[in-house]
Amino acid sequence: MQIKSATFVISNTDVSRCPNEPLPEYAFIGRSNVGKSSLINMLTERKSLAKTSGRPGKTQLINHFKINGNWFLVDLPGYGYARVSKTAKSKFQKFITSYFSQRKQLVSAFILIDIRHSPQAIDMEFMQWLGENQIPFSIVFTKADKLKPKAIERNIQAYLQAMLDDLWEETPNYFVTSSSNGTGREELLDYIDQINKQ
Ligand code: GDP
Repeated sequence: MQIKSATFVISNTDVSRCPNEPLPEYAFIGRSNVGKSSLINMLTERKSLAKTSGRPGKTQLINHFKINGNWFLVDLPGYGYARVSKTAKSKFQKFITSYFSQRKQLVSAFILIDIRHSPQAIDMEFMQWLGENQIPFSIVFTKADKLKPKAIERNIQAYLQAMLDDLWEETPNYFVTSSSNGTGREELLDYIDQINKQ
C-alpha cells in the first residue's frame, strides 16, 4: 500500500466521540516506550504525525488518523507505566476496554512488543482479554534493528511458546518491524490493504 495521505482527525478520551464515519479501523497499542509513535510515523512516512512522547503514560488519548481517505489508524495510549497510580490504572483500563468492546469500526488491533524483551505479564494479560472478547489482533515486534537475526528468531519463538504455555490454542499473526530502517513496513501495510479489499 502506498500512503497518499495521512491526516490527524481528532483526539479524545471518550469512545462515543470517535469519528462517526464507517471506515475500517486499525488500533495500535503497547507499553509506553515500545516504539508506537515511531512505528506510526514510519508506516505513514510522516516525521511527526504521532508525537513521540517525552513523558510516557501522560497522553491518555484516542488519536484518529485518516489514511488515504479510506481507513483509520488509531493511536491508543501506552500502558504499563510503573509510575501511574492505581486509580489512573483502573481509569485507563475502563477507557481501553470500552474502546475495544464498543468500537464497531475496529477491524483489528496491533499489539506492539519490544523484540528484546521476554514476555511481560501486562501484555500477556491484555492479549488474553482480547482473545476472550474475540477481538482480532496481530503482534508487532518493534526495534528489530537492535538484535541480530538469530536472536530475533529466538525471542519470537520464546514469545509464541509463552502464549502456548498460557493455553492459547494457536499463536497470532505477527510482524517484525524496525522504525529505524523500515523493516516490516510493506508487510504490515499490505496486510491492512488485503483486509480492506475483502
Ligand atoms: P512510544 O512511547 O511507544 O510512542 O515510543 P517512541 O516511538 O516514543 O519510542 C521510544 C524510544 O524508542 C525512542 O527513544 C525511540 O527513538 C526508540 N525507538 C522506537 N522505535 C525504534 C526502532 O525501531 N529502533 C530503535 N533502535 N529505536 C527505536
